[in-house]
Amino acid sequence: MAYQMPRGTQDILPKDISKWHQLEEMIRQFTYVYGYDEIRTPIFEHTNVFKRGNDSSDMVNKEMYTFTLDNSSTSLTLRPEGTAGVCRSFVEHKMFGEPDQPVKMYYVGPQCRHERPQKGRQRIFHQFGVEVIGAKHPLLDVETISLGWSFVSALGLKDMKVLINTLGDDASRDAYRAALKEHFKNDIDSMCADCRRRYEQNPLRILDCKVDKEKEIMQNIPKMQDYLNEESNAYFQQVLRGLEELGIPYEVDERLVRGLDYYTHTVFEVVSVNKEMGSQSTVFAGGRYDGLIEYFGGPSISGIGWAMGLERLILACEAEGIELGEEPALDAYVLCLSPQAALMSLRVTTQLRAAGYRSDMDYLNRSFKAQFKTVDRRHAKIAVLIGETEMEQGTVNIKEIATQVQQTVAMDDLIDVVDHIFEAEEESTGHCACHAHEEEE
Ligand code: ATP
Ligand code: MG
Repeated sequence: MAYQMPRGTQDILPKDISKWHQLEEMIRQFTYVYGYDEIRTPIFEHTNVFKRGNDSSDMVNKEMYTFTLDNSSTSLTLRPEGTAGVCRSFVEHKMFGEPDQPVKMYYVGPQCRHERPQKGRQRIFHQFGVEVIGAKHPLLDVETISLGWSFVSALGLKDMKVLINTLGDDASRDAYRAALKEHFKNDIDSMCADCRRRYEQNPLRILDCKVDKEKEIMQNIPKMQDYLNEESNAYFQQVLRGLEELGIPYEVDERLVRGLDYYTHTVFEVVSVNKEMGSQSTVFAGGRYDGLIEYFGGPSISGIGWAMGLERLILACEAEGIELGEEPALDAYVLCLSPQAALMSLRVTTQLRAAGYRSDMDYLNRSFKAQFKTVDRRHAKIAVLIGETEMEQGTVNIKEIATQVQQTVAMDDLIDVVDHIFEAEEESTGHCACHAHEEEE
């Protein structure tokens, strides 16, 4: 039987890895200038970190990979999202006691959800996310959105828009939930099983229903705005004003409630409107949460965060024709022209590498012609030839591919000569050719 990856998972192959490296590098740059530091939490947690009380979300109820090992009664869950683990860690390490609040963090890594795989929806996918915990200020909500927005803009994405809504504070949300229950009271029995569960657990989530959305009862739903108290409304208006100040275009979407129960006040989704994205169009999404830190045993402080699906981000780039990272070229390829020259070739390759040149050599005893094909295929800038003559004379033969200029130099002068070649190229192209990844910029 052939072995295959589990459904909904994906290998990221060496030929595609430079896309990921480019994204990761940009993530580090953007979080660096915003002053956010990385946090790495475990890939599995105790199940109760994710499953908190009577949570109504699909993710918690249907999509979690939960397991108990035979010799233990501890239930563990592969993390389906980043926020809960970060909040657990924030409390466990008493970060609320650090002198500088709020604490600004980011994470990058895989998440696992047992969902039906389709384009833009996998069972293992990667998220870049941010969490800012320990202050509640509408402009902090704006700051986090601005980080994500400037990141996707820097990639060149244009078909993006911010959808935003508020769920208000606890009092506003309670009033709204009551209004929704009243609204759906007579029709709930004819609605889908999920909606019936949501009706009991958290009627807000009915607004998210994809099954019942065409029904008449879904058309004239009470509006959250009408149940916001003054404070919640003022908070939301300040968020909107902040977005305007930074020139971030938004659309208020009164139906937006987001999938997780812990949100309060601001919720948002940044979506691609490009047609090729289909229904998996949300690139990043998040909101403010008030009760989570307390749930984990910390003080009553607020946080805000979002998570970006990196596979979806790549799809959004593809949809807009944006090319991410190229496979890096070789600086030097060492051609080993006889089996006896192998040791010397290895020494030369090692010297080139020690000097910072991306280099490789032949290990297959291939013909000169075959080795030269590798020089072409890997876009090497120089070829270093080592045969019987070179071995006898303690020299190497260097060929610059662009100019076809060839010279024989003493082994001891190898790095000086190569430095010279690359400096000359740098002057003529304005690029630093000795580090392929810098050249991509
Ligand atoms: P959706 O409505 O698409 O299921 P969600 O509300 O479950 O999304 P979040 O939990 O907010 O998503 O996760 C944030 C982001 O992570 C999403 O906007 C998306 O880009 C990405 N994401 C979520 N689930 C998946 C998945 N199964 N495969 C790939 N990316 C995902
Ligand atoms: Mg989902």
